[in-house]
Amino acid sequence: MKSTLALTAAAALLATTALAEDTRQLDAHEHGTGALDIAIDGTTVAMELRVPGADIVGFEHAAESDEDRAAIAEALTTLSTPTDLFGLSDAAGCTVEAATADLETEGAEDHDHDHGDHTEEHGHDDHGHDDHGHEDHAEEAEGATHSEFHAEYTHDCTAPEELGTITFAYFDLFEGAQELEVQVVTGDGAQAFEVTRDAPTLDLGGLF
Ligand SMILES: [Zn+2]
Repeated sequence: MKSTLALTAAAALLATTALAEDTRQLDAHEHGTGALDIAIDGTTVAMELRVPGADIVGFEHAAESDEDRAAIAEALTTLSTPTDLFGLSDAAGCTVEAATADLETEGAEDHDHDHGDHTEEHGHDDHGHDDHGHEDHAEEAEGATHSEFHAEYTHDCTAPEELGTITFAYFDLFEGAQELEVQVVTGDGAQAFEVTRDAPTLDLGGLF
Protein backbone atom coordinates (compact mmCIF):
# COMPACT_ATOMS: atom_id res chain seq x y z
CA MET A 1 0.00 0.00 0.00
CA LYS A 2 2.81 2.35 0.89
CA SER A 3 4.43 2.01 -2.50
CA THR A 4 1.16 2.85 -4.25
CA LEU A 5 0.86 5.99 -2.19
CA ALA A 6 4.46 6.91 -2.85
CA LEU A 7 4.07 6.46 -6.59
CA THR A 8 0.89 8.49 -6.60
CA ALA A 9 2.62 11.25 -4.67
CA ALA A 10 5.62 11.09 -6.97
CA ALA A 11 3.42 11.28 -10.05
CA ALA A 12 1.57 14.26 -8.57
CA LEU A 13 4.86 15.91 -7.68
CA LEU A 14 6.20 15.28 -11.17
CA ALA A 15 3.12 16.77 -12.81
CA THR A 16 3.24 19.82 -10.55
CA THR A 17 6.97 20.49 -10.61
CA ALA A 18 7.04 20.31 -14.40
CA LEU A 19 5.28 23.67 -14.25
CA ALA A 20 7.54 25.16 -11.58
CA GLU A 21 10.40 26.36 -13.70
CA ASP A 22 12.16 28.25 -10.96
CA THR A 23 12.66 25.16 -8.82
CA ARG A 24 16.03 23.48 -9.16
CA GLN A 25 15.49 19.91 -10.28
CA LEU A 26 17.91 17.06 -9.75
CA ASP A 27 16.66 15.59 -13.03
CA ALA A 28 18.33 18.52 -14.75
CA HIS A 29 21.65 16.85 -14.07
CA GLU A 30 23.37 14.83 -16.74
CA HIS A 31 24.45 11.34 -15.77
CA GLY A 32 28.21 10.97 -16.12
CA THR A 33 28.84 14.65 -15.47
CA GLY A 34 29.49 16.15 -12.05
CA ALA A 35 30.34 19.64 -10.91
CA LEU A 36 33.33 20.73 -8.86
CA ASP A 37 33.67 24.27 -7.57
CA ILE A 38 37.03 25.34 -6.20
CA ALA A 39 37.36 28.61 -4.31
CA ILE A 40 40.82 29.87 -3.43
CA ASP A 41 40.88 32.65 -0.85
CA GLY A 42 44.16 33.38 0.85
CA THR A 43 45.44 30.08 2.19
CA THR A 44 41.97 28.50 2.14
CA VAL A 45 41.13 26.19 -0.75
CA ALA A 46 37.47 25.15 -0.55
CA MET A 47 35.94 22.55 -2.84
CA GLU A 48 32.31 21.64 -3.39
CA LEU A 49 31.43 18.53 -5.38
CA ARG A 50 27.98 17.60 -6.74
CA VAL A 51 27.68 14.35 -8.70
CA PRO A 52 24.71 12.29 -9.92
CA GLY A 53 24.21 9.09 -7.94
CA ALA A 54 24.48 7.21 -11.24
CA ASP A 55 28.14 8.25 -11.50
CA ILE A 56 29.04 7.19 -7.97
CA VAL A 57 27.06 4.05 -7.15
CA GLY A 58 25.38 3.30 -10.49
CA PHE A 59 21.81 3.93 -9.32
CA GLU A 60 19.70 6.80 -8.08
CA HIS A 61 16.65 5.09 -6.60
CA ALA A 62 16.27 5.01 -2.83
CA ALA A 63 18.32 2.23 -1.25
CA GLU A 64 16.18 -0.91 -1.33
CA SER A 65 18.60 -3.63 -0.32
CA ASP A 66 21.50 -4.17 2.05
CA GLU A 67 23.71 -4.09 -1.05
CA ASP A 68 22.38 -0.65 -2.01
CA ARG A 69 22.89 0.66 1.50
CA ALA A 70 26.42 -0.73 1.65
CA ALA A 71 27.29 0.85 -1.69
CA ILE A 72 26.05 4.24 -0.53
CA ALA A 73 27.87 3.99 2.81
CA GLU A 74 31.10 3.06 1.07
CA ALA A 75 30.70 5.90 -1.41
CA LEU A 76 30.12 8.42 1.39
CA THR A 77 33.25 7.20 3.15
CA THR A 78 35.28 7.52 -0.05
CA LEU A 79 33.85 10.95 -0.79
CA SER A 80 34.78 12.06 2.72
CA THR A 81 38.45 11.46 1.93
CA PRO A 82 39.43 14.15 -0.58
CA THR A 83 43.10 13.15 -0.56
CA ASP A 84 42.02 9.90 -2.26
CA LEU A 85 40.07 11.77 -4.94
CA PHE A 86 42.15 14.82 -5.80
CA GLY A 87 45.91 15.00 -5.92
CA LEU A 88 47.16 18.37 -4.72
CA SER A 89 50.86 19.02 -5.23
CA ASP A 90 53.05 18.68 -2.16
CA ALA A 91 54.55 22.09 -2.90
CA ALA A 92 51.21 23.74 -2.10
CA GLY A 93 51.42 22.38 1.44
CA CYS A 94 47.73 21.59 1.82
CA THR A 95 46.07 19.92 4.78
CA VAL A 96 42.40 18.92 4.96
CA GLU A 97 40.61 21.01 7.57
CA ALA A 98 37.09 19.68 6.98
CA ALA A 99 35.37 17.13 4.75
CA THR A 100 31.70 16.19 4.59
CA ALA A 101 29.61 14.10 2.19
CA ASP A 102 25.91 13.39 1.95
CA LEU A 103 23.33 12.04 -0.46
CA GLU A 104 20.31 14.01 -1.62
CA THR A 105 17.44 12.06 -3.14
CA GLU A 106 14.69 13.75 -5.09
CA GLY A 107 11.19 13.11 -3.82
CA ALA A 108 12.34 11.04 -0.84
CA GLU A 109 10.45 13.26 1.55
CA ASP A 110 8.74 16.63 1.76
CA HIS A 111 5.59 15.67 -0.06
CA ASP A 112 3.67 17.95 2.23
CA HIS A 113 4.26 21.15 0.26
CA ASP A 114 1.09 22.99 -0.50
CA HIS A 115 0.81 22.43 -4.21
CA GLY A 116 -2.93 22.98 -4.20
CA ASP A 117 -5.31 20.68 -5.99
CA HIS A 118 -4.55 21.16 -9.62
CA THR A 119 -6.71 19.03 -11.80
CA GLU A 120 -5.62 18.63 -15.36
CA GLU A 121 -8.03 19.77 -18.01
CA HIS A 122 -7.29 18.01 -21.24
CA GLY A 123 -10.07 19.83 -22.98
CA HIS A 124 -11.49 16.98 -24.98
CA ASP A 125 -14.71 15.28 -24.12
CA ASP A 126 -14.28 12.01 -25.88
CA HIS A 127 -12.20 9.57 -23.81
CA GLY A 128 -13.85 6.61 -25.49
CA HIS A 129 -10.79 5.62 -27.50
CA ASP A 130 -8.39 5.98 -24.59
CA ASP A 131 -8.46 2.41 -23.40
CA HIS A 132 -4.80 2.00 -22.61
CA GLY A 133 -1.68 3.89 -21.65
CA HIS A 134 -2.58 4.75 -18.08
CA GLU A 135 -0.48 2.00 -16.58
CA ASP A 136 2.70 3.62 -17.86
CA HIS A 137 2.49 6.39 -15.32
CA ALA A 138 3.91 4.39 -12.44
CA GLU A 139 6.97 3.46 -14.48
CA GLU A 140 7.54 7.04 -15.54
CA ALA A 141 7.39 8.23 -11.95
CA GLU A 142 9.88 5.61 -10.82
CA GLY A 143 12.21 6.36 -13.72
CA ALA A 144 12.20 10.04 -12.76
CA THR A 145 13.89 9.51 -9.42
CA HIS A 146 17.26 11.20 -9.21
CA SER A 147 19.84 11.59 -6.50
CA GLU A 148 23.09 13.46 -6.09
CA PHE A 149 26.09 13.05 -3.88
CA HIS A 150 27.24 16.31 -2.38
CA ALA A 151 30.59 16.83 -0.69
CA GLU A 152 32.43 19.82 0.72
CA TYR A 153 36.12 20.07 1.53
CA THR A 154 38.17 22.77 3.14
CA HIS A 155 41.93 22.77 2.78
CA ASP A 156 44.47 25.05 4.33
CA CYS A 157 47.44 25.46 1.97
CA THR A 158 50.64 27.23 2.86
CA ALA A 159 51.28 28.06 -0.83
CA PRO A 160 48.10 27.79 -2.97
CA GLU A 161 49.95 29.39 -5.90
CA GLU A 162 51.96 26.16 -6.07
CA LEU A 163 48.89 23.98 -6.68
CA GLY A 164 49.94 23.57 -10.30
CA THR A 165 48.27 20.48 -11.74
CA ILE A 166 45.59 18.67 -9.75
CA THR A 167 45.19 15.00 -10.61
CA PHE A 168 41.83 13.21 -10.39
CA ALA A 169 42.00 9.67 -9.03
CA TYR A 170 38.27 10.33 -8.65
CA PHE A 171 37.70 8.75 -12.07
CA ASP A 172 39.49 5.56 -11.04
CA LEU A 173 37.29 5.23 -7.96
CA PHE A 174 33.93 5.82 -9.65
CA GLU A 175 33.35 3.90 -12.87
CA GLY A 176 30.25 5.84 -13.89
CA ALA A 177 31.96 9.21 -13.71
CA GLN A 178 32.97 10.60 -17.11
CA GLU A 179 33.43 14.30 -16.59
CA LEU A 180 33.63 17.07 -14.02
CA GLU A 181 32.72 20.62 -14.91
CA VAL A 182 35.13 22.62 -12.78
CA GLN A 183 34.82 26.24 -11.82
CA VAL A 184 37.74 27.88 -10.07
CA VAL A 185 37.14 31.13 -8.24
CA THR A 186 40.02 33.31 -7.07
CA GLY A 187 40.33 36.96 -6.13
CA ASP A 188 40.82 37.62 -9.86
CA GLY A 189 37.52 36.08 -10.91
CA ALA A 190 36.11 32.76 -12.05
CA GLN A 191 37.39 30.39 -14.68
CA ALA A 192 35.74 27.26 -16.06
CA PHE A 193 37.48 23.99 -16.90
CA GLU A 194 36.49 20.49 -17.95
CA VAL A 195 38.22 17.48 -16.49
CA THR A 196 37.40 14.16 -18.09
CA ARG A 197 38.10 10.47 -17.61
CA ASP A 198 40.38 10.61 -20.65
CA ALA A 199 42.20 13.72 -19.41
CA PRO A 200 41.96 13.57 -15.62
CA THR A 201 44.07 16.59 -14.74
CA LEU A 202 43.38 20.24 -14.00
CA ASP A 203 46.13 22.73 -14.77
CA LEU A 204 45.87 25.76 -12.50
CA GLY A 205 49.25 27.10 -13.56
CA GLY A 206 47.72 29.94 -15.56
CA LEU A 207 45.76 31.27 -12.60
CA PHE A 208 48.66 32.56 -10.57
ZN1 LIG B 1 19.75 11.39 -12.32
